[in-house]
Amino acid sequence: MSGISSELIEELNSMVRGEVITPDDSEYNEARTIWNAMIDKKPAVIVRCSGVADVISCVNLARENNILLSIHGAGHNIAGNAVCDYGLMIDLSEMNSVRINPETKTAYVEPGAILGDFDHEAQAFGLATPLGINSTTGVAGLTLGGGFGWLTRKYGMTIDNLLAAEVITADGNRLRASESENSDLFWAIRGGGGNFGVVTLFEFKLYPVGPEVLAGLIVFPFVDAKSILTQYKKFVETIPNDLNVWVVLRQAPPLPFLPEDVHGKEVVVLALLYDGDIDEGQDLIKPLHEFANAYGTHIGPLPYVAWQQGFDPLLTPGARNYWKSHNFSELSDGAIDAIIEYAGKLPSPQCEIFIGLLGGEAGKVAQDAMAYGNRDANFVLNVHSRWDEAKDDDVCISWARDFFEASAPHATGGVYINFVTEDETDRVHAAYGKNYERLVQIKNTYDPTNLFKINHNIKPTV
Ligand SMILES: Cc1cc2nc3c(=O)[nH]c(=O)nc-3n(C[C@H](O)[C@H](O)[C@H](O)COP(=O)(O)OP(=O)(O)OC[C@H]3O[C@@H](n4cnc5c(N)ncnc54)[C@H](O)[C@@H]3O)c2cc1C
Repeated sequence: MSGISSELIEELNSMVRGEVITPDDSEYNEARTIWNAMIDKKPAVIVRCSGVADVISCVNLARENNILLSIHGAGHNIAGNAVCDYGLMIDLSEMNSVRINPETKTAYVEPGAILGDFDHEAQAFGLATPLGINSTTGVAGLTLGGGFGWLTRKYGMTIDNLLAAEVITADGNRLRASESENSDLFWAIRGGGGNFGVVTLFEFKLYPVGPEVLAGLIVFPFVDAKSILTQYKKFVETIPNDLNVWVVLRQAPPLPFLPEDVHGKEVVVLALLYDGDIDEGQDLIKPLHEFANAYGTHIGPLPYVAWQQGFDPLLTPGARNYWKSHNFSELSDGAIDAIIEYAGKLPSPQCEIFIGLLGGEAGKVAQDAMAYGNRDANFVLNVHSRWDEAKDDDVCISWARDFFEASAPHATGGVYINFVTEDETDRVHAAYGKNYERLVQIKNTYDPTNLFKINHNIKPTV
């Protein structure tokens, strides 16, 4: 079924350089498929933009003809807003160049680039900026929601390192947004997602990182979870920002450094990165080895780009996914008890509870400095419910929801917008807290008719 006339599709074809894909084309199904297999939306037309001119044409055509519009960076978002039913999907995945200026330590990144593209180019000069932990995630969506990963404690969130962006706004104009140019728009896109226009270029600040870092995993028996999490929360209060340690509770994957009889058992995994002198890092993490008797340890000097891909095998596209997430300022005993209870009844071998550690430089930025305002989130807890067969939907979704409810009393009430699922439209306000009203004002200025509505939507009030 098409929500766009054949005449308009003809018009699009004549205007753009990139590929125009409709349901009649053989690549249609592949082009509309995104990371989360729960999402099955069917756009009337997909435009694989080959440059800024194509983006402008799509925005103008959609606005002038009242066509539903979605924006696809790398298609990783759990909520599936990269795709829309019956509308026009702007697919930016072919616009994926990354250019590094090593003298000014600046990266110029197109919106279809994935984290792996960025790290690959930047590390050629021994440089990096804080990004996420899965190399196939899109730079665009990650940045527009906030962005955090192993380097966040040391250098802040991804948005804290965004210097400028070029944005195609709803009227089809290209605006440059930075602290000194269209600063209200710059404030809004640092956390406000795809609500304000299509970003066609990001400029980031870079830092010397690696190329070797100290990184790896310690895998403990689940039976020691309470003691490990209690020691963990004390340990991370004292560590320098060069070190980041996350916790994952799940069934052990078949990692070569684990004995075979551990594979599939419930475990507590400490995953870490230290960006500094390797020997100093080894000294610093010594207490972690004492938390309990580990099943296995795999920590050593590693290329930064390799560690950035370390979780890729567990987070491949094509599985069914349903996530629930909370922010925590501290891991209270009640939160730890809820985590342990639900990690003890994982409904599928791929389900996991992730605890990401923030704080450090990310916590020093003022709550109203930009749209992302969750600066009190020292821990981001993400329940990755993940499975293969539709028949398991109910049990896996219920597990995530029940755990979410059980842990809610211990959380801040805030949430990271990039972990909000499709059915959580009521959490958009909570994600922005006091910053929400200013976002509405800026939405009124730049997108009063809500052309960009297929996202975690900030509704205009004009
Ligand atoms: C496996 C996995 C691991 C993750 N790990 C992390 C992590 O470590 N840290 C972290 O911070 N986040 C993480 N995330 C969340 C991630 O940041 C979001 O899913 C993000 O939206 C992905 O960006 P994308 O471009 O791939 O998404 P898409 O689905 O393509 O886009 C998401 C939305 O962003 C908007 N958008 C995308 N591109 C543009 C653009 N150029 N202009 C305007 N709007 C745009 C659109 O509204 C779109 O619907 C992870 C996600 C997954 C699935």
